[in-house]
Amino acid sequence: MSREVKKVVIAGGGTSGWCTAMALSKQFGSLLDITLIESEEIGTVGVGEATFPTICTFHQMHGIDEKEFLQATGGSIKLGISFENWARKGDRYIHSFGTVGQSNWIGDFYNYWYAAKEYGYEGALEEFCFELQAATHHKFAITKNPRINYAYHFDAGRYARLLRKLSEEKGVKRIEGKIIEVKQNADTGFIESVVMESGARIDGDFFVDCTGFIGLLIEKTLHAGYEHWGHWLRNDSAVALQTEFSGDIPPYTRAIAHDSGWQWKIPLQHRQGTGHVYSSAYISDEDARNTLLQHLDGDIRVELRLLKFKTGRRKKAWVKNCVAIGLAGGFVEPLESTSIHLIQAGITRLIQLFPFAGCCESLAKHYNELSRVEYEKIRDFIIMHYKATERDDTPYWRDCRDMEVPDSLAERMELYKESGILFMGAGEVFRTDSWLQVLQGQRIFPQRYHHFGHTMDKEQLMQALNKLKGDISTLVSKIPSHGDFLKAYCPMQWD
Ligand SMILES: Cc1cc2nc3c(=O)[nH]c(=O)nc-3n(C[C@H](O)[C@H](O)[C@H](O)COP(=O)(O)OP(=O)(O)OC[C@H]3O[C@@H](n4cnc5c(N)ncnc54)[C@H](O)[C@@H]3O)c2cc1C
Repeated sequence: MSREVKKVVIAGGGTSGWCTAMALSKQFGSLLDITLIESEEIGTVGVGEATFPTICTFHQMHGIDEKEFLQATGGSIKLGISFENWARKGDRYIHSFGTVGQSNWIGDFYNYWYAAKEYGYEGALEEFCFELQAATHHKFAITKNPRINYAYHFDAGRYARLLRKLSEEKGVKRIEGKIIEVKQNADTGFIESVVMESGARIDGDFFVDCTGFIGLLIEKTLHAGYEHWGHWLRNDSAVALQTEFSGDIPPYTRAIAHDSGWQWKIPLQHRQGTGHVYSSAYISDEDARNTLLQHLDGDIRVELRLLKFKTGRRKKAWVKNCVAIGLAGGFVEPLESTSIHLIQAGITRLIQLFPFAGCCESLAKHYNELSRVEYEKIRDFIIMHYKATERDDTPYWRDCRDMEVPDSLAERMELYKESGILFMGAGEVFRTDSWLQVLQGQRIFPQRYHHFGHTMDKEQLMQALNKLKGDISTLVSKIPSHGDFLKAYCPMQWD
């Protein structure tokens, strides 16, 4: 057991560093002395701009006003992701954050839909999801009945600035400069201080490593180890740009598959972020950049640097008196925008397990186990997008289609294919609605389904489905366009 924790040092000021500073200072500002160190010269990754719905809850928990946040960051609404060219070239489907139909305790709604199909019903499953229909028609409103599920797109630089302002208001001290050395206790190995390039020494009882991929404290100092998932998730590079954007702002991210990777398009109020994620084993950096340049919607505003990454997770996110949050703790590629979710889930866990009375092995072990489960569940969901493809037009897609996947995923896909059963396990963030939408979108269909839908006769079932579909369609027709919603609710505020 280490000494009591009163002084926290956060190393790194990207999204993870400032999210940690904001949340810790909002919850425990009166109990802790918090310092954040960041280096403008080193800079941040700066490309994490699409999110997952859990961000709304995280903001509510820490009192971040939604309008203020969207105005400050030029943010827009995200109802899901449009996957293009994934199962086959020319295919498109939306993985929305919504609920598909109305389920019951026996099973999910899609079983009713399969039953209805046997009776001759021809409507698509997508018609039973409000968020998906709103996304398709570029519409949005904050509805309570049904409660709409959504996330955000935002400008990462502006988000960090907003979080910094909120943190400094709560007493967080910021130190600019480079950490050049990490001092450990000679007996325990616990971190005691970090030494700055200026020579200043910053002491702490507890350290949060938010230094990005390098993992200055957790890996370079504490040697936590890294589990690499490159054999399943082949992408290891990205080129990113910002472009001008005009016209209708879609309330979804676009993920467009190319020959050796995929391209994101993230629409904000003032610009679009775009980038090509690819595997360097299949395409050169130069060709990847050219592919991106051939698929732009507007003039280039800012060209960002080439990014290299290693998909996987730190074997231990918490070692001694240090926890890694953000890229320092791991990275599952950005296909489902899960990094910021993982940051905020890690912070929530840290707050719930905060070691005020001192760090001990059992606490770290518990944190690490929860973190492992969370990462692995997300990993499986992402791998499924690559495995479940029919594309065989390039070596990249052939290798993805033919790869061996983790047993946990193989069994899950088999269960769905053979029996039409989907489930949400402990520690999972993706609901059965997500698995269903992506599996169907990737053209994986079950051979059998549960027959509870047949407890209704044909007429009852058709009536119920038509009513549900009609209600969704009426609601979508009544809500404003996404663009009009943004103009009325949260027009961007320039600095
Ligand atoms: C191609 C790509 C696309 C992505 N897209 C998404 C997305 O759409 N959605 C999503 O949720 N996530 C996405 N991510 C992940 C997202 O970018 C990160 O999770 C997020 O930006 C947090 O990064 P970070 O704060 O952990 O690290 P960084 O942004 O790298 O910040 C590290 C900080 O540590 C500081 N630092 C490092 N070394 C030192 C030192 N020696 N001394 C002092 N300071 C130091 C740096 O100055 C910086 O402030 C993407 C990542 C990549 C690579």
